[in-house]
Amino acid sequence: MSAHGEDCFYCAKDERLYRLMVEICKLETSTLFLFREQTYRGRCVVALNAHETELFRLDRETLCAFSRDVAKTAAALQRAFGAAKINYAIYGDLVSHLHYHVVPKHKDGHNWGEPFAVQPSPAKHLSEEGYKEVITTIKEHLSG
Ligand SMILES: [Zn+2]
Repeated sequence: MSAHGEDCFYCAKDERLYRLMVEICKLETSTLFLFREQTYRGRCVVALNAHETELFRLDRETLCAFSRDVAKTAAALQRAFGAAKINYAIYGDLVSHLHYHVVPKHKDGHNWGEPFAVQPSPAKHLSEEGYKEVITTIKEHLSG
């Protein structure tokens, strides 16, 4: 069963969402969020604006736009943080609303050569000022 409406925090946009991430900006067909857990500096989520649960259910135009949004985000993260590789992940067993985890990886950094940890322990949280700084850096590179 796919969650929808008030059951889905990407649709409800309530405290469940904002506890996990900070909105950065709207993209073509999605919304870009900074993930509060920042073990991988610049880690973001790109969430489709519409409640859809599988890529194969998207019409061609939305699928292309969503891909462009993810690519634009990844390019910005690469430029902003000098990542050696960007990792992309869609899971959604529990939160089925389509969202990509977009995660910068460094050769001397966490989990190089293996999948990034979805929920690293210990978690690395920043101050509100720290989040603002990362978001400003990402925004500069999104527009550039
Ligand atoms: Zn939803």
